Amino acid sequence: KENLLEVKNLKKYFPVKAGVFRRTVGHVKAVDDVSFNIKSGETLGLVGESGCGKSTTGRTILRLLEATDGEVIFDGKNIHQLDKKDMRSVRRQMQIIFQDPYASLNPRMTVADIIGEPMDIHNLAENKKERNKKVEELLERVGLLADHMKRYPHEFSGGQRQRIGVARALAVNPHLIICDEPVSALDVSIQAQVINLMEELQDDFDLTYLFIAHDLSVVKHISDRIAVMYLGKIVELADKRELFDNTLHPYTRSLLSAIPVADPTYEKERIILEGDVPSPVDPPSGCRFHPRCPEAIDICSEVEPEFKDYGGGHMSACHVTDQEHEAVNDK
Ligand code: SF4
Ligand code: MG
Repeated sequence: KENLLEVKNLKKYFPVKAGVFRRTVGHVKAVDDVSFNIKSGETLGLVGESGCGKSTTGRTILRLLEATDGEVIFDGKNIHQLDKKDMRSVRRQMQIIFQDPYASLNPRMTVADIIGEPMDIHNLAENKKERNKKVEELLERVGLLADHMKRYPHEFSGGQRQRIGVARALAVNPHLIICDEPVSALDVSIQAQVINLMEELQDDFDLTYLFIAHDLSVVKHISDRIAVMYLGKIVELADKRELFDNTLHPYTRSLLSAIPVADPTYEKERIILEGDVPSPVDPPSGCRFHPRCPEAIDICSEVEPEFKDYGGGHMSACHVTDQEHEAVNDK
């Protein structure tokens, strides 16, 4: 299958201002040279601790934030070069579902208007009757009742509100949905229901997902491939099975060790990282993970490791990986 989305060397820096003159004294390097592709119909999981830049990556792809540098190619078009009119049609094809279903739905709008609004904006229905007919169909498709369209967001549970958010995203027939921690705010018992729904919808509506989460266990089932992000950079990227069974990067190993396993014979020793995530304003030299990495060697604080392919598209950026494995195609 072809790439629906190509992200090339994407950077998003935010200026840090200080003093009475609000001078720029530095930059938060929220996204710092990130590259990946997503094939049509695929789900790429994007995982990392909060503040690692995964949400900013999602928003910069959608151009809700302007990129500092790099390219985003969607369906063959470099979207950061599109004018307003062309961007509008691309916007319809790329939707986002937000983390907080409480904050992302307008409390004063009925469900019919919340789901119908994007259809109005993109002129997707002839009249209100036709629009509301589509809203009814969408509500039923996401496991709610057609009758719910007259109600307001506060009348629903968190899981139901996220279903409304999903219906709103689907209303404009998108190709790509960026799911920005869509289940993080929900009870664990509800999380699986919403993820299962999103998997069903993916097949039915031919959707491609970038699925952002801070927890590998959340993306484990839904993802085809997984990218692991740390402090503005992707440190490992691989097919899901490969990432779990043949982990290359020490940071990924620490995330994996935090997932509880059902069978205690497979219990891995929990790797507890020391210290907090350092500031992305002045990231550590060499490998950004070195102050916390249990496997760090001398070179790690001095030289930034290259992001290399160790076979079958299994990418890792680590000096120790590099010493123990042979990269297949050095760039
Ligand atoms: Fe750890 Fe060094 Fe690998 Fe970075 S490059 S992850 S510090 S071993
Ligand atoms: Mg986030």
